[in-house]
Amino acid sequence: MFMRQKVTLACEQCGSRNYTTTKQMGRLGERLTANKFCSVCNKHTVHRETK
Ligand SMILES: [Zn+2]
Repeated sequence: MFMRQKVTLACEQCGSRNYTTTKQMGRLGERLTANKFCSVCNKHTVHRETK
């Protein structure tokens, strides 16, 4: 059984919370980032995990 933590990905530029995903727990200190499309910025931006 794998422990998975639900995280929200927020646009780094406008702060809009556009995506939710899960990540495997156990890597403390690792920050999840992803390049995804933001409908507010109308372009691809870096999305960073937030609580
Ligand atoms: Zn944005």
